[in-house]
Amino acid sequence: GCGICVKKCPFQAISIVNLPKDLSTETTHRYGPNSFKLHRLPIPRPGQVLGLVGTNGIGKSTALSILAGRLKPNLGRFDVQPGWPEILASFRGGELHNYFERILSGSAKTVIKPQYVDRIPRQLGGSVGDVLRRKDERDALKSLTEELELAHLSERSFSELSGGELQRFAIALLCVQEACVYMFDEPSSFLDVRQRLQAAHVIRGLNDVENYIIVVEHDLAVLDYLSDFVCCLWGSAGAYGVVTMPFTVREGINVFLDGKIPTENLRFREVSLTFKISEPLPEAVESDKDQRYDYPDLEKTMGKGFGLQVQAGSFCRSEIVVMLGQNGTGKTTFIRMLAGMLRPDNLKPGEAGLPELNVSYKPQSITAKFMGTVRDLFMTKIRDAFMHPQFQADVSKPMLIDAIIDQDLQTLSGGELQRVAIVLCLGKPANIYLIDEPSAYLDAEQRVVTARVIKQFVLATRTTAFVVEHDFIMATYLADRVVVYAGRPGIACRASSPKTVLEGMNEFLAQLGITFRRDPQNFRPRINKIDSIKDQEQKKSGKYFVLD
Ligand code: ADP
Ligand code: ADP
Ligand code: MG
Ligand code: MG
Repeated sequence: GCGICVKKCPFQAISIVNLPKDLSTETTHRYGPNSFKLHRLPIPRPGQVLGLVGTNGIGKSTALSILAGRLKPNLGRFDVQPGWPEILASFRGGELHNYFERILSGSAKTVIKPQYVDRIPRQLGGSVGDVLRRKDERDALKSLTEELELAHLSERSFSELSGGELQRFAIALLCVQEACVYMFDEPSSFLDVRQRLQAAHVIRGLNDVENYIIVVEHDLAVLDYLSDFVCCLWGSAGAYGVVTMPFTVREGINVFLDGKIPTENLRFREVSLTFKISEPLPEAVESDKDQRYDYPDLEKTMGKGFGLQVQAGSFCRSEIVVMLGQNGTGKTTFIRMLAGMLRPDNLKPGEAGLPELNVSYKPQSITAKFMGTVRDLFMTKIRDAFMHPQFQADVSKPMLIDAIIDQDLQTLSGGELQRVAIVLCLGKPANIYLIDEPSAYLDAEQRVVTARVIKQFVLATRTTAFVVEHDFIMATYLADRVVVYAGRPGIACRASSPKTVLEGMNEFLAQLGITFRRDPQNFRPRINKIDSIKDQEQKKSGKYFVLD
């Protein structure tokens, strides 16, 4: 099935299809007699960037702790903790031996950028600049300050920083240090597209013949761009995870998307994730294109310093408009004007401006204010949708709500809360769905599933969605048209009227100076390496983005 088949959603049955014979001889670590176990380990190679991809709760951070020498693996045994000689003997292949010998000799320093950067303020005191200067063993601070946009943060303390600022600081903190193994656990969280690419550049810049670099990443375009080779992790979240052998980047990401490992003749997910909408659109959707809702030029000043100008535009039913822009360009400001939460400065009260339509809004930052379980929340706020079989099949099921339905909202992880917030938004009857950064905290698989759920929902209900999204693969999959932001972030910006995907993406990518091509197998967009032949050719002909 494709992303728009309304009757049968392919994500109803995500399960392991055929398991390999016996993994028990290849257990690397088990947290407790009945808790999560990790089988095998990723095999890093000196002088190369190893990318790790897999769902949440599958053992990626666990694998990093073991490879950093911080967690001594127990090989799944609880009688006696095995010693290193036995542990090393259990690893197949010589590469891990060489690797651990260097780590265990103490001569090879390992550093990890933690997944949860929001915990940094509790761990570090002093100012951003002080901490970085103290660690600047590579004399790299000056160039990193520029590349990671840290100059204006130097005097600040950590409690004053936003998520994106903490992330850039944390990446810089690793990059200034002299180490042998650099590990980055989810470096693109909270960053916009430009910052993700900058982060990818500085991480790749650490590469030399002796170093190991390992990156866990859910933005597949960034993972693709960053890595020299890729290991996938598959299994059952919270129960067990298995690390695959290393693949080339293209192979590895396609294995992850396909849900099968050809070399092991193993299928670990029933459905493969593709980015092509192959089936023709329903006729109603075609006729929807003729009926447009217009909005006028809009202006808004926020605080003392920020001015946004929105160019007049229109949208129609069964359409998704994706907002593309750096952080601080006013995407959320525009969404909140559409939601009726902010009044445009140039419209008088009562003046006809925005079309009078019902909106449902998923804010960018979500907090669990509701006291009670997920079920209580849905029964209170979106009872009709939640009880409806079609909504359950098309939205609740694929968003994996069943697994958390009886949990207290207060106990949910970031990714779980995001899934609840998206379901809550789609469950409210409306003409326009405003969805601000749905991919935040979601893993790579949930991003693809979520994109397909939103697409299918908008087509099935013949509504409209405006979506702010930094994950390039999600953005290109979702977009029927795009709004491109330009100007100086935090100061003065303009939002264009909705443009065709081709025109808008071209403009946005030209701003960023990068070009994209498509994977011929599953139409996944791939970033061309800067100055590669394709990159040069596409830039010369002005084709930053290609549709097919
Ligand atoms: P990922 O990084 O892929 O999301 P993790 O490696 O963080 O996954 O966790 C894998 C599983 O191991 C999860 O179910 C998690 O709850 C569990 N886990 C992680 N750390 C511990 C620990 N210290 N003790 C017990 N269980 C843990
Ligand atoms: P984006 O969503 O594109 O990251 P926002 O619309 O959230 O951008 O913010 C645009 C600019 O407006 C930022 O510089 C932000 O600091 C500023 N801003 C947003 N809300 C307020 C507010 N309530 N008061 C003052 N400034 C604000
Ligand atoms: Mg993790
Ligand atoms: Mg925003």
